[in-house]
Amino acid sequence: MEPNFDKLDGLLSVILQDTHTNQVLMNGYMNQEAYQKTLADGVVWFYARSKGRLWKKGESSGHVQNVISMRLDCDQDALLIEVNPEGPTCHLGTQSCFGDDDFNLQVLEKTIQEKIAEPKDGSYTKYLIEEGSDKILKKCGEEMTEVVIAAKNKDKDELISETSDLLYHLLVMLNHEGVALKDVEEKLQSRHGKKQKISRRNDIQTW
Ligand code: AMP
Ligand code: ZN
Ligand code: ZN
Ligand code: ZN
Repeated sequence: MEPNFDKLDGLLSVILQDTHTNQVLMNGYMNQEAYQKTLADGVVWFYARSKGRLWKKGESSGHVQNVISMRLDCDQDALLIEVNPEGPTCHLGTQSCFGDDDFNLQVLEKTIQEKIAEPKDGSYTKYLIEEGSDKILKKCGEEMTEVVIAAKNKDKDELISETSDLLYHLLVMLNHEGVALKDVEEKLQSRHGKKQKISRRNDIQTW
């Protein structure tokens, strides 16, 4: 399915979404030519209404948006593009033009990656990485034990707090081992599919 630019007064509304964090990054507009250039280049082009010309996002900042996938909405008048941005999308310096208040595990993963890439003094993540694998694995074990104890004690606040500790240390460990949260998500997704089919037959669980 292709957008019909004639019906859209020549402009298609475009939303960029970060492939790793799922953050909504920005909204812009494409004319037919920007749409074609995006398909051809694999990076996002807009029609800048204020500039009155084609605009390759990142043309001066270098923060280009690599296209992962594109999806039109139900009536083909809006386009959702999943992107891998090469820097902050907003010219004001935030990842997203809507601010960086959204938080999820992927955002935490990205923060951890940044802390490892550019370590700052006093950073706990930096300390863990410098201590190495044994330390990180030991912490994962300890935090898991604390989660179990909190659950056993029926202490909800403690359970939330210890699970937070565990998830953070798990993300550091996965990163250290070269595994991305996305890899885990894909595995879960495939198992979810399998599990649904199997449970419909009232069969054994696969996990
Ligand atoms: P860039 O395309 O990133 O090289 O940015 C070039 C210029 O486009 C900036 O100086 C801003 O004027 C404008 N610009 C860049 N990113 C955005 C954005 N996300 N929203 C609105 N204007 C932008
Ligand atoms: Zn629509
Ligand atoms: Zn912006
Ligand atoms: Zn803890």
